[in-house]
Amino acid sequence: MTKLTDIKAFSKPLLANLAKLGLTQIQDLLLHLPLRYMDETRIIAVRDLRLGDAALVEGEIVHNEVTYKPRKALIAKLEDASGQLTLRFLHFYPSQISALKVGAKIRAYGETRQGFFGYEMVHPNCKVAGNDALVAETLTPVYPTAAGLTQPNIRKAIQIAINHKAISNHTHSSQTNLSETLPAAVYQKSGLPSFATSIKAIHYPAPDANLASLEERNSPEWRRLAFDELLAQQLSMRKHDAKRRSVEAPIIAASKKLVPKMLQTLPFKLTNSQQKVVAEISQDLIQSYPMQRLLQGDVGSGKTIVACLSALQAIEHGWQVALMAPTEILAEQHFKKFSQWLTPLNINIAWLSGSQTKKQRESELASIASGAAQLAVGTHALFQTTVIFKKLGLSIIDEQHRFGVQQRLALRKKGDSHDLNLNLHQLMMSATPIPRTLSMSYYADLDVSTIDELPPGRTPIVTKLVSDERRDEILQRVREACAVGKQAYWVCPLIEESETLQLQTANDTFAHMQSIFPDLNIGLVHGRMKPSEKQAVMQAFINNQTQLLVATTVIEVGVDVPNASLMVIEHAERFGLSQLHQLRGRIGRGAEKSTCILLYQNKLSETARARLKIMFENTDGFIIAQADLHLRGPGEFLGTRQSGVPMLKVADLERDVDLLELARQWADKLIKEYPQAVDQHLERWMRLADELVKV
Ligand code: ADP
Ligand code: MG
Repeated sequence: MTKLTDIKAFSKPLLANLAKLGLTQIQDLLLHLPLRYMDETRIIAVRDLRLGDAALVEGEIVHNEVTYKPRKALIAKLEDASGQLTLRFLHFYPSQISALKVGAKIRAYGETRQGFFGYEMVHPNCKVAGNDALVAETLTPVYPTAAGLTQPNIRKAIQIAINHKAISNHTHSSQTNLSETLPAAVYQKSGLPSFATSIKAIHYPAPDANLASLEERNSPEWRRLAFDELLAQQLSMRKHDAKRRSVEAPIIAASKKLVPKMLQTLPFKLTNSQQKVVAEISQDLIQSYPMQRLLQGDVGSGKTIVACLSALQAIEHGWQVALMAPTEILAEQHFKKFSQWLTPLNINIAWLSGSQTKKQRESELASIASGAAQLAVGTHALFQTTVIFKKLGLSIIDEQHRFGVQQRLALRKKGDSHDLNLNLHQLMMSATPIPRTLSMSYYADLDVSTIDELPPGRTPIVTKLVSDERRDEILQRVREACAVGKQAYWVCPLIEESETLQLQTANDTFAHMQSIFPDLNIGLVHGRMKPSEKQAVMQAFINNQTQLLVATTVIEVGVDVPNASLMVIEHAERFGLSQLHQLRGRIGRGAEKSTCILLYQNKLSETARARLKIMFENTDGFIIAQADLHLRGPGEFLGTRQSGVPMLKVADLERDVDLLELARQWADKLIKEYPQAVDQHLERWMRLADELVKV
């Protein structure tokens, strides 16, 4: 690796500016890739300009005026042998007025638009066309940049980096900055050019290069870099995975007593899918390295019982289990369910909740510390340092996407609190399925088990899209459903900007429902209530003491009230796809036919319309997740801010899915057959790859 500070050609201020962009090494500059390109290789005659295309024109300024109507603007007219073109500036400096004085010979680059008086360019890039000002030989790259760093400067810096001869000596690697990290077979077989060719073609595309494929990043050269990046990601994930496998974890044999007993008493039979994933998890626990398994299954697919059976395997062999849920409501529900299932098996369960008295809490903590509690259920309260386990062997995290990485790591560390320096087995559960491309890339270091069928006897949920103008009809429908003993959720509109407003809306909706339905018992649950209040409201709904539950998205995850068969979501257009899917998953849990009504406000935006259409047409969580990924992109989908997952910079999982497959195949082969190439490749992409394993 060559540091930029070691190269004389870079001045101090330039170095400082490059550092602002995180560019401190030669490799960083090589991989600082253009956002787009300008075609300044040809001068286009004004007459030949095409609307919407960016082009370079050259001519004499024949008119220059600052107008004030409709707003202040600098208008210049450029004339060449073929015609005239308007150059329009809405923001400008006095120096620009004089640079565009009548008679000046100017070269302007911009996108041609239709103006009032013929073609025009708004804010074109202008240069004085001196006699020696040659037309560019290659397409001109436009780079991401920072204040103080001009395009010509960053272009020049990259040029220096490309031309810099790495000093190769024998003690250090013989790599140069542009040399191959991979055996030729790897990329040639896939029809990809060399790294050096690709870097040069991307930074200095030939004049006849296909601008569209450069900008779409699907030229062979871009594909080579995307492949390299995906391969680096795969390699680093596999290294990470290998490291995990070298760590010791408790070997927990299969359950002989508790699991069979539990299965006997269960009122239902496991689906084939459930049996399959239980076996996969059981097999992991038998290994001497920590399990890191993601259990994904659509809402209602029955993940909880799978978690319970896995916990029993650990408990049977004297290990403690922690079960964590992201909300109080869900943690409480799990506590109740597990108590109901496990108390007959004489298993002690500790319960940590925000609504406990200090005394209760202390007694729970004591039983966790002494090992008397074999299972501890709670919210993130379980990570706190005051919680000390005697012998924690397995942690189970429900709705894992709702937790941050830090929280998950904090729980993992708890495994070290007993004498044995073993690491924990971890089971993460999620009802937001990870689309295949993501699980092959960002989650490549996790093992994934999938429940792909719902328990039998469920009737599919019918989804209706209804304009808010028909709200009264819907209210009527709610009343009728409740009158015949059904239960319904009314989900209040999401107000992301203000929690106070959100709260107010929930309260208002509740008051309104009470006034129009005096004969119904109505509950209200929202995020600002005390945990004990929430629990009381949920319990009343579960017990069918209330028929209608007015709720915010606090009911989004995990809540399981099988008798509820109607859900109305107000302002459904404000919710995200996975949120809608999660919410809708609260119904359709019993044998009763369920209906979800998405009330929307007219004048939908295009994406809101697309989201609602997807909800209307699909109930399969995988299809919805895929569509969600498509609409929002991986950054938003994974919730980067929350998860701390850095994004791929070159590759695009939708566009480059074939390269992802290829990278996966090659990663295994390289690790086996070309370990040196693996190190070289990771060194080149390291700064990126290193971050990618923080998942
Ligand atoms: P999720 O996967 O969304 O967490 P749950 O574990 O809450 O789903 O299960 C949803 C409902 O289905 C629960 O009431 C649960 O008891 C029930 N259930 C789970 N597995 C089966 C099965 N194999 N047959 C019938 N009902 C089941
Ligand atoms: Mg669940």
